[in-house]
Amino acid sequence: MRYNLFIDGNFIEPESGEWIDSTDPYTGEVWAQIPRGDAGDAAKAVLAAKQAMASGPWATMSASGRGALLRRIADKVAENAEHLARIEVKDNGKLLAEMRGQMKAIVHQWHYYAGLSDKIEGALIPVENADTLAFTMREPIGVVAALTAWNSPVMFATMKSAPALAAGCTVVVKPSEFASASTLELARLLQECGLPDGVFNVVTGLGQEAGAALVEHPDVAKVTFTGSDVTGARIYETAARSMKRVSLELGGKSPNIVFEDANLDAAAAGVIAGIFGAAGQMCIAGSRLLVQNSIKEAFTARLVAMASRIRLGDPMCPETNAGPIATPPQYQKVLDYIAVARSEGARCILGGKPAEGPGIRGGQFVEPTIFTDVRNTMRIAQEEVFGPVLSIIGFESEDDAVSIGNDVAYGLVAGVWTESIARAARLSKAMKVGTVWVNTYRSYSHMMPFGGMKKSGIGRESGIEAVHEYLETKSVFISTASLAPENPFVMR
Ligand code: NAD
Repeated sequence: MRYNLFIDGNFIEPESGEWIDSTDPYTGEVWAQIPRGDAGDAAKAVLAAKQAMASGPWATMSASGRGALLRRIADKVAENAEHLARIEVKDNGKLLAEMRGQMKAIVHQWHYYAGLSDKIEGALIPVENADTLAFTMREPIGVVAALTAWNSPVMFATMKSAPALAAGCTVVVKPSEFASASTLELARLLQECGLPDGVFNVVTGLGQEAGAALVEHPDVAKVTFTGSDVTGARIYETAARSMKRVSLELGGKSPNIVFEDANLDAAAAGVIAGIFGAAGQMCIAGSRLLVQNSIKEAFTARLVAMASRIRLGDPMCPETNAGPIATPPQYQKVLDYIAVARSEGARCILGGKPAEGPGIRGGQFVEPTIFTDVRNTMRIAQEEVFGPVLSIIGFESEDDAVSIGNDVAYGLVAGVWTESIARAARLSKAMKVGTVWVNTYRSYSHMMPFGGMKKSGIGRESGIEAVHEYLETKSVFISTASLAPENPFVMR
């Protein structure tokens, strides 16, 4: 299958005349070809998006008209959910069952932002001067460049585009070069729904070519990015030069904190799902298990027993618990971190090498891996692996748990397992993260804001807050006075 770029309502070939192979990480076979878009293609897409903002049906469409369009998109995605889910699995090797679940969440997102389109309001402000009418207007920020990672491409494209379109912006999406097909399929669905030309564009290609060109483009008003902190920092720097607005959803090294008073069955299941689900390729991975010393040994033994039973294999198969690592560089990175952990003195008590056996194909599987004797200063406790590697760290008291949990550059999420409501409340306040999960992990709702503190990012996606990421507030003062001011040289 050979794809084309989606620019100004048309599927067109890239200026480079080149395509990038898209490989199924489970079979190791090339299954699609993705256009290698470059700066020229990025410029075309931005021009189309700029023109669509300035004139034509999108520029004059009412807020309720935008809502109706987004609702149609929700229905269209629902009709095509199975098709999109299967493409995601082919591109990133995540479980079909998980991708089907994600499609349901994506349909909710489109409906949610459809409903918000006509609820974007300014306010009448009761300013001091009686002869002044003062109010605020919420205006679309302009052309949005949305750069996304490979682990959940349609989800990320939707999390960014749905609120941006609800706000009246236009969008150019640059998906990961490792998993671009599903975003181009999404573009086809939006086209079929009658979204005006230029409102939603997709430029695929390499990050340093198509991606960088979008970030540098003077007519892009806002960059919204999901990916690694290294790329995020580069984008932030570049965007600052032209004062672009920026939202960054970056990585994590999240603590999953288990107290001795927890429901340990639930905690063990939560810890396993939090690090071995999606083969650990989640920004929210609970990659540091902080466990109270009094239960550490028994709880660790329980985790090892559970993790040993994880079935690796074909992500399309319902019996599989985890698929392959999505990309060759990521696979190598996971193995490198396992070597780093060993060299630092951490003790590997499960896994620690490439997985083999029946159902394993494609050469990109890593065994579920558990390290104990980890100190929080080690690289394996501080740096994001983005793979199925758990580091176990013991703690004595609640204060220790909080200080070790927060002693990391990231601040995306934290899990807390306790039966004490007072402790749950204290930890919810104390953790320096964007999301706290108490007695649960990986809970998601399109209505709840999501984003990171510290090195995990800037801004929030999902919920009402996401729409505000795509709006500028304008203040308007209208004088109703019939006489000129007595003294024009003082502020009124
Ligand atoms: P990445 O940073 O390598 O790439 C992300 C996107 O940026 C891709 O589309 C890529 O082509 C593009 N890009 C790369 N270099 C660029 C440049 N110089 N200019 C502009 N664009 C550029 O990330 P990845 O490997 O695709 O994804 C994994 C990372 O994403 C992990 O660190 C993970 O934690 C993070 N992530 C975060 C969240 C979140 O919501 N916080 C969710 C999922 C993944």
